[in-house]
Parts: sequence; C-alpha cells; structure tokens
Amino acid sequence: MLNDSKVEDVIIIGGGPAGYTAALYAARANLHPLVIEGFQWGGQLMITSDVENYPGYADGVLGPEMMQDFRRQAERFGARFVTDDATRVDFSERPFRVWVGDDEYRARAVIVATGATARQLGLPSETAFQGRGVSYCAVCDAAFFKEREVVVVGGGDSAMEEATFLAKFATRVTVVHRREEFRASKIMLERARNNPKVGFVMNAVVEEVLGEDGRMTGVRVRDTVTGETWEIPAQGLFVAIGHDPNTRLFLDWLDHDEAGYLVTKPRTTETNIPGVFAAGDVQDHVYRQAVTAAASGTMAALDAERFLAAEEGHPGSALTAPRPEAEPARA
Ligand code: NAP
Repeated sequence: MLNDSKVEDVIIIGGGPAGYTAALYAARANLHPLVIEGFQWGGQLMITSDVENYPGYADGVLGPEMMQDFRRQAERFGARFVTDDATRVDFSERPFRVWVGDDEYRARAVIVATGATARQLGLPSETAFQGRGVSYCAVCDAAFFKEREVVVVGGGDSAMEEATFLAKFATRVTVVHRREEFRASKIMLERARNNPKVGFVMNAVVEEVLGEDGRMTGVRVRDTVTGETWEIPAQGLFVAIGHDPNTRLFLDWLDHDEAGYLVTKPRTTETNIPGVFAAGDVQDHVYRQAVTAAASGTMAALDAERFLAAEEGHPGSALTAPRPEAEPARA
C-alpha cells in the first residue's frame, strides 16, 4: 500500500548514531526527514552500559539514554519516525522506494545507516550479563576493568587488538580461541603474545558466563578436543568474533565489499547510485565508534542536501554551492 502519494525529500534507514545525526542535520536543513529507525531502534549502544568516550558527556552516559537524547534532538527539529524495520527497497529509479511490510514510502534521496551487528556467542548467560561484564568493544569499555581479570574470545585481529589494549588496564587477559591456528595477522598476534599480561587458551570455547547477584565472576570453557570443562575467573568477557553489516536489503543495489560493507566514494557518503548515501558502521568496519558514526551521519545529510539543492526548484538551504571536488587523500 502506498503510504499516501507524498514523495519525501529524504528517507533515512537506521536508528543509531549515524541515522539520528543525519536526521538532525536533515531536519535543520528543512528536508523533513522520515527515519525508518527499526523495530529495535538505537543500534549497538543499546547493549552497552556506560559510554564515557562520547565528547560532551563529561560524566558519562548510559548507551540507551544517549540514543534517546540523539532521537529527541532530531525530533525537536521535525524528524519523523517509523519504529519498524525496512523490509525491501527499490533503487532502480527515482523516487526511490522503501517498504516497511506492505507500506511503501518514496523519497528523492535515501541515507542508509543500518549499522553493523557485533557477532554474539549466542549464550543466554551472555545476554544476561551484557553491559554488566560482557562487552563487544574494548575501546569503549576497557577502562572499567582496571585491576580486573578479563577474557577475550576470538582469534582474529580484533581479538588480538582488544587483548593488547585491555592489558593496559586489566591484571590478566586470557584469550580463548576455538582453534589451534589464528586468523589474526602475524604482527597483531606477536604483539599480543609478547605482552606478559596476555595468556592464550586454544581449542576452547566459552560455554557459559558465570556470575552472582548480577555481577560476572568468570566463564566456563570447554576444550573442543577433549571435552573437558573448567572455569576461568574473570569480571569481564570481551566477545571479539567479528561484526556483520546490516546490508542484506541493499546488496542487489549498492556496491559492497566481500564482507557486505557498503562502499562509498572516498571522503564522501555517496554510493554508486546518485541520491543514495551511506553513513556509519554500515560503510565503516575500521573505526566503529559512535562519534565517527555520528560524524558520518552529518556528512550524509550534507551530501543529500547538496544533492537535492542541485536539482531544479529545490529551495535547499545555505548549502547551495556544489560540493567541492574531493582532493586526493593525503598520505
Ligand atoms: P575475523 O577476522 O572474522 O575473526 C573472527 C574470529 O572470531 C576468528 O578467529 C573466528 O574463529 C572467531 N569466531 C567467529 N565466530 C566464533 C564463535 N561463534 N565462537 C568462537 N569464535 C568465533 O573478525 P575481526 O577480528 O573482527 O576482523 C575483521 C576484519 O577487520 C579483518 O579483516 C581484520 O584484519 C580487520 N581488523 C584489522 C585491525 C587492524 O589492522 N588494526 C583490527 C581489527 C580488525 P575462526 O578463526 O575459527 O573462524
């Protein structure tokens, strides 16, 4: 069912730091953005507790509260929300079409900000201790584990990087990896191996997160060869087994890399389809921070605004000048 005949200026798909920041800027540029924010809006910050590295929150803030603040700020300037998941898109011609179930929405520009999802182990006890010991981001949460013992799961570059970073704070870091060989690059592996605080348990999987009174006390691991189980005392568990970009809907339309991350033109948020932009973790598997996602949401709104302003008759705002050509990246 066509959701009235209106063609929106811009539809933003995704309700995390990138999507809400794009909505804030687009709303302030009079583009009346419609945000299809997802049934479980808020993104990855909804499964974290304290956020202490977002500039402006000097005393820290809870992840879900921060996302409410982001949302409220966009709403204040007129952003509208559909609290459901986009289920299909058609970018073959303009206006672009986006469906939420049977409801169809149309727009002259689209910003994709659907983020990425940290892979989880899939244990009920892991979910129970999320934000209370279980974390998916060492850069965000390592400082909470000063003088504590932590376990890192994974055998890739992320796991090695997180283990090395965590060793600056924790007294002991135990990397638990399910195989004998590592996926991590040699240099990252060596760095972790050479750190006296970092130990390794190979051929083992975490099968339970243990705790008392809501506080994590350790993990139970199982040897994948012998089946033997034992406990490792720890107050933190960092799951570093990769991320998956939320791009299933877009793969037929938008250029992406092997892992499914959308590809944008260097130093812009432009995708291969003029008028479709991508912002945040959906196109960034390197930095993955709320602040970098928000910054890229800003870029997408400005890019969309310039794109629409360049079209006939659109009033645009202060940004009517064409976008300067991107300079070659500096070395
Ligand atoms: P990754 O390379 O896909 O490694 C994931 C690791 O988690 C693998 O060792 C995998 O084990 C393990 N794993 C997956 N599912 C698991 C499960 N259910 N239970 C237990 N273990 C599981 O992911 P990543 O380390 O996040 O790296 C992603 C990309 O980013 C890579 O290209 C990496 O080089 C890059 N990266 C680069 C840097 C850097 O250069 N500074 C830092 C971080 C990441 P198996 O090996 O058995 O499959």
